[in-house]
Amino acid sequence: MSPYRIAVIGLGEIGLKRHLPVIAAHPNFEIVASAKRHPVATDIGGRQYRDYREMLASEPAIEAVAICTPPDVRCRIALDAIAAGKHVLLEKPPFSTLGEFRRVRLAAERAGVTLLGGWHSQFNVSVDRARDILAGQQVAKLEMVWNEDFTVYHAGQEWIWQAGGFGVLDAGVNGLSILTEILPEPLVVRAATLRIPRGAQTPIAVDIDFAGAHDEDRLHAGMDWRTPTAERSIEIVTRSGQRLWMPNSGRRLELDGTVLVDEDNMEYPRIYDRFAKLIASGGSQLDEAPLVVVADTWLVGRTVPDDTAI
Ligand code: NAP
Repeated sequence: MSPYRIAVIGLGEIGLKRHLPVIAAHPNFEIVASAKRHPVATDIGGRQYRDYREMLASEPAIEAVAICTPPDVRCRIALDAIAAGKHVLLEKPPFSTLGEFRRVRLAAERAGVTLLGGWHSQFNVSVDRARDILAGQQVAKLEMVWNEDFTVYHAGQEWIWQAGGFGVLDAGVNGLSILTEILPEPLVVRAATLRIPRGAQTPIAVDIDFAGAHDEDRLHAGMDWRTPTAERSIEIVTRSGQRLWMPNSGRRLELDGTVLVDEDNMEYPRIYDRFAKLIASGGSQLDEAPLVVVADTWLVGRTVPDDTAI
């Protein structure tokens, strides 16, 4: 079978560093074009456009697009790509709002094209194993820590501090996307605090308390971009006393001190494996659960000012 002809829209950190190399090495995809508003010097192995609409109109042979822009413009781009009959892979968080989720899902269903929302942290073997272990269990304790220094991964990204830009939730939603995938019950936000730096519309640090089955249960997620050292981990203790420990952005899984999974970052090759399978089978995969947690955090959370210079 010949590879699917794909174009990448948005070539920044993630488009250049993850999507292009993975597509180049993948047997089921062939890069034919890209679009971003300011051209890049890099030879991407396909034709470069400044306007994705011009690309869609000029390159009818494109079968699929990967949208790697910031989230606020993805809905419009996805709808235009779907209208042109293309299969669509969306970087995370797929959209800025739940309404966009529903509109694009419906458009893809009507057009009969594949849609994949690539919550990349869900594409780890550890996630599948943790989900199996937790099935049918109750969680008595949950502690998610998703901390890093924002200047390392998000230097110069003005969009991240603007409304719809997510701030620290852009990174924290990766941990939340693991939780929504592995926990046996839906995550219910009870209270939250969002710390907003001066001049920003989005938080630099967020604390979320979730409602457990019992009042004494402590279910908490903290994400902080003011920390010099990165730590991304999840600890879960079940009512029956089992302890799951997922450090290294959730790629390692220990159960009661025994290592079950410890692997390198294979998330993006697996996303493209899944995309190829979905296109072949005519399916779609678009999970809105992580964005529901983000939306609920804003709905019940209180905002407090923060002095960090951004
Ligand atoms: P970025 O470095 O700011 O890159 C965004 C890219 O989108 C730029 O190339 C920008 O180029 C392009 N763009 C913006 N609007 C566009 C439009 N209307 N049409 C075409 N291109 C457009 O951001 P990033 O870090 O790659 O993040 C992008 C997404 O990937 C975010 O949702 C983020 O959560 C996700 N992600 C990022 C990382 C990471 O480590 N950075 C990891 C995983 C996932 P022009 O301004 O020239 O158009």
